[in-house]
Amino acid sequence: MKIRSITDLDLTNKKVFLRLDLNVPIKDGVISDDTRIRAALPTIMYILKHTSTLVICSHLGRPKPENKAIYSLEPVGARLAELINKEVVLVNDYGEGELGTALIAKKDDQVLLLENLRFYPGETKNEAEFSQHLARFFDTYINDAFGSAHRAHASIVGVAELIPPKSRAAGFLIAKEVQALTPLLETPKSPFLVIMGGAKVSDKIGVILNLLNKCHHMLIGGAMSYTFLHYLGHKVGSSLVEMDQLKLIDSIYKTAKARNVIIDVPVDHMVASEFKEGSPATLIDGPDIPAGLMGLDIGPKTIERYVGAIKASATILWNGPMGVFEWAEFSQGTMAIAQAVAASTGYTVVGGGDSVSAVNKAKVADKITHISTGGGASLEFLEGIALPGIKVLQS
Ligand code: AMP
Repeated sequence: MKIRSITDLDLTNKKVFLRLDLNVPIKDGVISDDTRIRAALPTIMYILKHTSTLVICSHLGRPKPENKAIYSLEPVGARLAELINKEVVLVNDYGEGELGTALIAKKDDQVLLLENLRFYPGETKNEAEFSQHLARFFDTYINDAFGSAHRAHASIVGVAELIPPKSRAAGFLIAKEVQALTPLLETPKSPFLVIMGGAKVSDKIGVILNLLNKCHHMLIGGAMSYTFLHYLGHKVGSSLVEMDQLKLIDSIYKTAKARNVIIDVPVDHMVASEFKEGSPATLIDGPDIPAGLMGLDIGPKTIERYVGAIKASATILWNGPMGVFEWAEFSQGTMAIAQAVAASTGYTVVGGGDSVSAVNKAKVADKITHISTGGGASLEFLEGIALPGIKVLQS
């Protein structure tokens, strides 16, 4: 897949509309983690080297009319101003003609930041009128919000489509994600191992089915593994089971058999009698979990098997923790997988918010080939779905 990159465009004196993902955690007006703002800096600084007309936009959370104030991008604008050492002017109302006025009033050394896109219903509805209203001021469209690329919203698709194709491009973050994830679907080096974990198999069924056509081996962990174990006829005690997913698990096993893919499920477990932080962990030295107990992490034999598979693989994709890693008693499986993936000399990709936190917690983030920040967008990309926000940037 070839997408136009920001470096393919001549940005000299262009009027640039830049869609970013500045959806950072904010509490009482204070940003607790500015990673997303800092991650956008290379694209912002590159644009500012070539032109002074830059309007940035982003969504923040899921605002409702009654709680708009807490979803204002104002703190983001203030932090951005510090980081780029320029005045960032927040454009509050741009539903009518105010954006034009703000652009006329803008000084050369100022950058405009549109207030939360989701304050306007036209954004999520991808309304033509809203897109036209925004696009008419610009001759260049750049998107660097990979985490939103799976959403056909106005700032992701509608506005882009109103700018000539040759003047639309991906910023550095999107280009990097596409470059890192594409080899998993097109040219993965053998053996290709997929490690799937997390809460729900229903969230990941599409990715699992698509990756079964590409990989050689799949390891299942986390809460989703109990639905697999139940399907295979094991006792799972009071562990989470998604009964409505059993038919899909059946199609997973049929696809795996047809393609000769090995699927491994846990052979032992760390369990507790209730889902509560501080509950003591007990080892169940076999695949069956007695009644009244729930599996909250993979056991030591499973860890050994999974680490062995990781060592034997040349390409590894990991998405989702092996247990309730937020609680120390049930974090060992996830931490062991994080360490083993980091120790691999192969091509390693970690995606999904929780596995990324696990890798950070294990302090091995710098030893992973690529950490995907996309969440839902990464999953849809790996599911083989053409993301609307990427399709519109293809050359
Ligand atoms: P996901 O967002 O689907 O990747 O799921 C991540 C969440 O799954 C984390 O908050 C984990 O605590 C949770 N999780 C992992 N394993 C289990 C388990 N065995 N039982 C309950 N929750 C789990």
